[in-house]
Amino acid sequence: MKVSHDGRPSGGRRASVLAPLVPYCTKTRRYRARTIARTNERDCRRHPQCCAGRGAIWTAGLPHASLGSFGWVEGGAQAMVAAFLAEACTVIVPTFSWGFAVPPPASDRPARNGWDYDEFPGPAAGLGRVYNPSSNEIDRDMGAVPAAVLLWPGRWRGDHPLSSFSAAGPLAGVLISAQRPWDVWAPLRALVEAGGSVVLMGVGFDSMTLLHLAEQMAGRKPFVRWANGPDGRPMGVQVGGCSNGFHKFEPVLRPLTTSCRVGNSLWQVVPARQAVEQAAAAIRKRPRITHCAAPGCGRCRDAVLGGPIAPR
Ligand SMILES: [Zn+2]
Repeated sequence: MKVSHDGRPSGGRRASVLAPLVPYCTKTRRYRARTIARTNERDCRRHPQCCAGRGAIWTAGLPHASLGSFGWVEGGAQAMVAAFLAEACTVIVPTFSWGFAVPPPASDRPARNGWDYDEFPGPAAGLGRVYNPSSNEIDRDMGAVPAAVLLWPGRWRGDHPLSSFSAAGPLAGVLISAQRPWDVWAPLRALVEAGGSVVLMGVGFDSMTLLHLAEQMAGRKPFVRWANGPDGRPMGVQVGGCSNGFHKFEPVLRPLTTSCRVGNSLWQVVPARQAVEQAAAAIRKRPRITHCAAPGCGRCRDAVLGGPIAPR
């Protein structure tokens, strides 16, 4: 599937969507979101290096968007999201909620799962609780922009108790509806299929959640963690591993990346399909590219080996 925001086949000339957020395009050098949303795209054609596509889909990698990196934005995160939606974009963000995590049941403890079961019995935060996509609970460290999307009227949230994605905008349902506890990266696959882009807003490649999909495409299994299912009993769910080493993809992804400054914030825009394809190729060629700087990181060790040995 390859569609534009309004369902028509994509292709042809694309107008600006990110450029309206660039202060020097407004000729005012201000980055107030209210101004941003009203900026005429004609002002931006002189700055094609800043432009992605109108109707583009963007996501921001963990911790997704550093609102603080902008300096100050009038209207805060809600105004940021509104500015994108006003450009007919669909916005998709990770909205993880580890407050629903429970310990692994004794009968379901796969090997090579980035977890020493003897050392840590597991989180207790989710005991007695059951996740539902209607919940607005989100980890505090996810940041203000994902929280704003989660509170957006009509937003979609994925069916995954620990690592849901949420989206607002015309393609929100298309991107989100396939997510399941045992298909954590379905929204990212949909993002790739829809021709979306990743926008890293003041954060680096080590914050790029899409690279977990590249790991899976390279043949790795996602790790297993646990949360209560609809019946209130623990169920295994897929989750990502350690991303602290993802900055090492910089030489791989740099040629694909368009950068611009938005206020004090450096934005990096990467086309999702090319990014995952080239990152997956890099992982196949050099598996340790994902390994972080901690020699004893059990999650990175087990990911490099291919992930959990699970019967599923
Ligand atoms: Zn690590």
